[in-house]
Amino acid sequence: MRSAYKFRIYPTKQQAETLDDTLDFCRQLWNLALADRKTIYELEGKTRSYEDQAALLTQEKTKYPELKQVFSQVLQEVLRRLQTAFDNFFRRVRQHARKKGYPRFKSRYLSFTYPQLGFKLDGSKLILAKIGSIRIFRHRGIEGQIKTCTLKKSSSCKWFALFSVEKEDPHKVEPLKSLGVDLGLTHQVVTSEGQYFKYPNHYIKAQKALRKAQKALSRKAKGSNNRQKAKIKVAKVHERIKNLRDESLHQVSRKLVDQAELIVFENLNINEMVQGNLAKHILDHSWNKLIQFTQSKAERAGKTVVLVDPRNTTKKCSACGKLTPKTLKDRVHSCRCGLTICRDLNAALNILTLGQRGGACGDLTSILNSRSRQVGSMKQEAPIL
Ligand SMILES: [Zn+2]
Repeated sequence: MRSAYKFRIYPTKQQAETLDDTLDFCRQLWNLALADRKTIYELEGKTRSYEDQAALLTQEKTKYPELKQVFSQVLQEVLRRLQTAFDNFFRRVRQHARKKGYPRFKSRYLSFTYPQLGFKLDGSKLILAKIGSIRIFRHRGIEGQIKTCTLKKSSSCKWFALFSVEKEDPHKVEPLKSLGVDLGLTHQVVTSEGQYFKYPNHYIKAQKALRKAQKALSRKAKGSNNRQKAKIKVAKVHERIKNLRDESLHQVSRKLVDQAELIVFENLNINEMVQGNLAKHILDHSWNKLIQFTQSKAERAGKTVVLVDPRNTTKKCSACGKLTPKTLKDRVHSCRCGLTICRDLNAALNILTLGQRGGACGDLTSILNSRSRQVGSMKQEAPIL
C-alpha cells in the first residue's frame, strides 16, 4: 500500500536557487526529449522508448554539460514521466477519447523526483544529492518504507518535500504456517521442520513385556486356571501399552498442532512399507490414531489437517522432483541434484508441498472412519511391533 507524506522545507537562498535551477534543467530535458520523440517520428516513423532516451541521455550530457549539475536519477525520472505521458496519450487514442492530450512542451516545470537514491532524512535535515542539506519541518512521523522523494514548488514559491511510502497492508493475511508430517518405522514422526519424534522408550519396554506375557500364556494348558490368569496378564499389558501409546500420541499431536496452521499427513499406504498383516494393522492403528488426535486438537484450535496421496513421497526429491527408487534399508535420500538428506525428512518436505498445493485426497473424516473399521477387526493378541 502506497501513501504520501508532505512536509514543508526551508531552503537557504542559495539552495532555493539550486532547486530552481534543477527544475529548469528538468524542464529543458523534458522539452529536448519531447522534440527528439517528435523528430524521430516525423523523419523516420519510429517511436522512441524510455530506454532509448535514457541511453541518449549520456550523449546529451556532453552536449549540454549543465545537465551534470543534476543527480542522474532525477534526470532519468523526467524521461520516465515523458514515457508515462506518451503511454496515456496512446491509451486515449486507442479508446477514441475526444481529447487525446499529446504531450506538450513546457514553459514551467513544477516538481522533480529522486526515484530511489540520492536523498536522506536526518533529523530536521533533508539531504539531497547535488543540492545539499535542507531544513525540513516534519510535523508527523513516517510509517513504512520511503520509496521516492519529490521536491515541489508551490505557486506561492514555498518548497515542499513529498515522500511516497510503502506501507504494509494491515489487512494482509500472513501466509499459512504449514507442516508436513512423515510417519515412520524408525522414528514415529519426522516433520518438514526437521523434528524427529522417537517411539518412547517405555513403550518399547512394554512391548517386550507383552511378548513375554504372550509366551507364558502359550505354555499354559487349555482350560486351566493358570491359563485364565495368564490371559488376564496379557490383557493388562495390552491396556498399559494402549495407555502409553495414547499418552505419547497426545503429546506428539499437541506439538504438531501448536506449531502450524496447516498440518499435512500422508493418506498412508502401509502395504508398501510393512510386510505381514498384523504388524500393518498395529502400525496403521497407531498412525491412524495420531492423525485422529491431531485432527481433533486442530479443530478446537481452528486449524486444518489434510491427507495427501502418498505416491512417490519417499522416492521423489524434495529439491528437484526427480525420482530415486529406494528400499526400506535406504535411510538417506541422495539425489543427483546434490541434495542428500534423511529419507524421512525428504518425505516430510514432499508431503508439505503436496498439502500446500491443496493436493488433499478425499474427505478426512470418511477416510479415518473406514480405517477404524479395518483396524477394529484385528485380534486382541496381535503382537505389537
Ligand atoms: Zn534432486
